Amino acid sequence: MPFTLPKLPYDFNALEPAIDAKTMEIHHGKHHQAYINNANAALENTEFASWDVEKILKNLSALPADKQTVLRNNAGGHANHSFFWETLVSPSKSGKPAGKLAAGIEALGGWDKFKADFSKAALTRFGSGWGWLVLKADKSLAITSTANQDSPLLEGTKPILGIDVWEHAYYLHYQNRRADYIEAFFSVVNWGKVGEIYEQALK
Ligand code: MN
Repeated sequence: MPFTLPKLPYDFNALEPAIDAKTMEIHHGKHHQAYINNANAALENTEFASWDVEKILKNLSALPADKQTVLRNNAGGHANHSFFWETLVSPSKSGKPAGKLAAGIEALGGWDKFKADFSKAALTRFGSGWGWLVLKADKSLAITSTANQDSPLLEGTKPILGIDVWEHAYYLHYQNRRADYIEAFFSVVNWGKVGEIYEQALK
């Protein structure tokens, strides 16, 4: 099988109180696993089964027409969730943007504007999707959002930070209060890791 569920780099309860353990257990073990199962089923016995997930998303139009939607959604879901888990950490270890990342955020208008704009992108994404900080081809940062499980890679940008705003990401604890979940998300961002992702993406 091409894809397997990555282990979380922390315990299910590590992100409390921002994200509760039961949400993490179901989100990782059921939702993420389902994207993997669906993507693997679509790739089974095809020449694309050896491609990594980034290659699939960057070359989606090269895939058979009848595979494109299922892989957009499910390889996209696998990529987005694998990325998301890596960028989260216990509140006590969250830290703050430093170095080049801090400078990049400054170029977006500073921390307060970044936080407001990122939150707005996440809050106003209608239905299910993601809010993103991405690196564009010209190496500038931008705040955006995508629908469903669309990856920034589909648009030729690189994800630097993402927030899952599907209801499955927050409904058990926050119900309809997406804004409260978004505010809490900032307390569990692993800014050290996000800084590494940014510096790698700049290369
Ligand atoms: Mn999700």
